[in-house]
Formats: sequence, C-alpha cells, structure tokens
Amino acid sequence: MQATVLYGARDVRFEDVPAPAILHPTDAVISLPAACICGSDLWPYRGIQAVPGPVPMGHEYCGFVEEVGREVTSVKPGQFVIGSFFASDNTCPHCRHGYQTSCQQRQPVIGAQAPRMRVPLADGTLVPTRDVPQAEMIPSMLALSDVMGTGWFAAEAAGVTAGSTVAVVGDGAVGLLGVLSAKQMGAGRIIAMSRHESRQKLAREFGATDIVTERGAEGIERIKELTRGVGADSVLECVGTQEAMQQAVQSTRPGGSVGYVGVPHGVTLEGADLFFRHVRLLGGPAPVRRYLPDLIARVFDGTINPGKVFDLTLPLEQVAEGYRAMDERRAIKTLLRPS
Ligand SMILES: [Zn+2]
Repeated sequence: MQATVLYGARDVRFEDVPAPAILHPTDAVISLPAACICGSDLWPYRGIQAVPGPVPMGHEYCGFVEEVGREVTSVKPGQFVIGSFFASDNTCPHCRHGYQTSCQQRQPVIGAQAPRMRVPLADGTLVPTRDVPQAEMIPSMLALSDVMGTGWFAAEAAGVTAGSTVAVVGDGAVGLLGVLSAKQMGAGRIIAMSRHESRQKLAREFGATDIVTERGAEGIERIKELTRGVGADSVLECVGTQEAMQQAVQSTRPGGSVGYVGVPHGVTLEGADLFFRHVRLLGGPAPVRRYLPDLIARVFDGTINPGKVFDLTLPLEQVAEGYRAMDERRAIKTLLRPS
C-alpha cells in the first residue's frame, strides 16, 4: 500500500508502507473513501515542530470497517464509522466526564492520509453511523473527525449561549467551523477575524454577522468598538500563536471565556495580566468523541454541512501539492481521494 510519510520540513512523500493490520485484539482496520490535511499538520511540515524521523501522516478519518480484532464488539465489518485523532476507551473516569482526549489509555491515531488504516481501541473510539452516508456527505463526515468537533469544543469551552456575542480568532477550517458551531448554539452576534475574502464569505455563510480584518492591538480595538467598549462574551482562539492568544484574551469581557483549540506554539501567559482581566480559559485537544453522535445526526438531517471547508480536492497521490496549497494559503483545507 502507498501512504503519506513526512520526512522533515516540506518533505512529504507518498510511498510504499506496510499494509495496516490488526496488531491488538482491540484494533480495527478501516478503508478510507477520502482523507484530508489538517492545519495542525502544517506545524511539522513547516519545521516549527520537530519531526523525529519518517512519520506516517493524517489523523482525520471516516470509512468502512474491514476487519476487527477478536475483542471488538461494538463495530463490525461493513459498517461506516467515524473516530477522532486520539483513540480512547470511552470507559475510564476522564472519558466518562467527556474528556476522551485525556483518556487514561489514549493513543494518537495516525496514518490516515492513506487508503486504509488501523484504529486502536476500536470499541471506544469508533462511532458507527445508522446508515451508510451518501457519497456527497463523506466530506462533512470527514470534517467531524477533527475540525468540526474542534470548532464545537472551542465554542462550548468559550461558553457560547443563546444570544451571546462571540468573536473567533483564526479563519482556518477550525475557526470557520467555530463560527458554524456558535451559530448552532444560538449566538446572537458572531465576529469573525479574517483578512481573506473567500474565508470571510464562508464565515458569513456559516453565520458570522461581522468581519474584522485588523489584527493585534487594532483587532482588539475593533472588537471593543463593535461591543460598545465591553468585549465579547466568548472568544474562540483557533490559531495557537502568541498573537492570536493575546488577541483572544484581550477581546474578552471581564467574566467572559476563551475557548482555545489552536495547538499552542510559543504561547506564554502572564499571571498578573490574566488575574486582573477576569477571563476564564478552557482549551486543549477537543474531545471530539463526545460530540460525534450529535454531530453525525446534524449532518444526516442537513442541519450542518461542515464539508464546505474543503476547497481543494486532489488524488491522494498528489498529497504533497495539498500540503503546499495549504501552506501557501491557496486552500483552506485539502480533501484527498484514494484512487
Ligand atoms: Zn478513557
């Protein structure tokens, strides 16, 4: 089988790898009708996060169960399933509290930019859909595996409620789906921060009421202006840089909340500054597993169409071009089709 392997900064190869197989009795092997590239894949791609050696890439997935280990009872071959980027048992105390990405048995799931993959802890990790989704729904199902679930967590962690004022920092797939999530949660006003016209357009389609193109201190100032000097009730930080985090914290009103889901790179917070701001913070790797049953139902009934974030589709073997397009911001998110 051929799959995607990252060797180092800007060195993505599509090459022969061993076919995935059941290694533990709790594993499943699934076949993937589509794959994709995540914004977080750009950190190692750009060399900002060190690559320890050749690494199989891809952690977003949905597809058909081909084979299960002998201890797997909740999914069976032929079913269509979706899982998250961390495998979880879904039974430990952290899972029962809804934080499956902190599962006591959590394991990263990798190797999804491929035609087939192995998923550990299949019973806890994989959610089967009631019916096999139609082909046109596959991109939306794939988006649930990470970006949609992560946008949802950002909105929930930021305490979005009906009628509230929300600001979203970051116009990547997660930020855009954070807008969609806030809209689904009934936010009254959603301010999207974006400088890119195509992304602004999608943000509006997903429910943004205002667009702020300024960044840094000017961006914060603009949000203050739009909220009569008060700040937003809820701010979603969907980037992971110091500038974005500062923008989020300083755009939030006293007593408001920041949901931060951008993987932090070089972010530091100053204790005394936070102390006097009265801002609540909750973030981390989104517990996507918790949201999957609800989000799957919303895709099936047509309430949400998160697959709209895919604005470039390539054959899987052209995965390297997919990385380049996202790195150069020519694409929001690349969908890859195995041949
Ligand atoms: Zn667990």
